[in-house]
Amino acid sequence: MPELELTRLAGSTFVARGPTNIGLFVPEPGRAVLVDSGNDDDAGKRILRACAAADLAVSHIANTHSNADHCGANALVQARSGCRIAAPRSEAAFIEEPILEATLLWGGFPPPPLRNKFLLAKPSRVTELLEAPCSVPGAGIEAMPLPGHFLGQVGYLTPDRVFFAADSAASPAILEKYKYYVVYDVAAHLATLDLLAQLDVDWIVPSHAEPTREAGPLVEANKATILGVGDRILELCGGSGSSVESLVEKLAGSLDLELNHTQHALLSMTLRSYLAWHANRGLVALRVEKNCLIVERK
Ligand SMILES: [Zn+2]
Repeated sequence: MPELELTRLAGSTFVARGPTNIGLFVPEPGRAVLVDSGNDDDAGKRILRACAAADLAVSHIANTHSNADHCGANALVQARSGCRIAAPRSEAAFIEEPILEATLLWGGFPPPPLRNKFLLAKPSRVTELLEAPCSVPGAGIEAMPLPGHFLGQVGYLTPDRVFFAADSAASPAILEKYKYYVVYDVAAHLATLDLLAQLDVDWIVPSHAEPTREAGPLVEANKATILGVGDRILELCGGSGSSVESLVEKLAGSLDLELNHTQHALLSMTLRSYLAWHANRGLVALRVEKNCLIVERK
């Protein structure tokens, strides 16, 4: 693995580009605040090496949310640096009890195929519970709510007008590859995308896309995918109704996806979230028929 490179975006704000972008803010000489930590121990070692090379000691990790690709290196970085960890309250529960992520996706105690490193980060201790919008104590950055993708996701704004936007928007390449986007609360996610489009900042840094100065095209591409999948699900609910389980299969088929266990769980959760969104707007009805959960278009 090549060394991580810290790229200065503005003033004291940097990004380390990787599978999950890691933000870095220097509130005072010698001290680094990380926005997310990376996906595993290896990512943690790499960001610590990059900090050491720049004479920076990590004082804080500010987590955007609890998905393992964002907090998977927390445990290693915290053990080696003694850093504080800040996270929104609901995400903190998952960071401290990582099995909750697989539990949420599965809807019960998760079976072995879902207890993997993509879903199970090593646990770490959250020292600062955030109620966004708020400042992050001791870190010099602001947390802003970005709900939708996951329970209590937040983004972080640095004084250099750089906004770390977490998983509020995916790169066009990811949207093209997966053809849908993992969403926990569709209405909240759409509102978050609108907020992103209106932000008055100099840089927007999604976790899995290039930093950009112009959110508009990114937001439009994401909205098109989110709404397109919503329409597709409505179509699949037509006729005399479908079981939720069969809808997972139909949706994957219509998106031309071949799912592994983790992807099946992610698509299932996302489908159920869409069904709730449609049901809230009176577009589908859910009923239990002969002990089977059926969705029907209204
Ligand atoms: Zn992510």
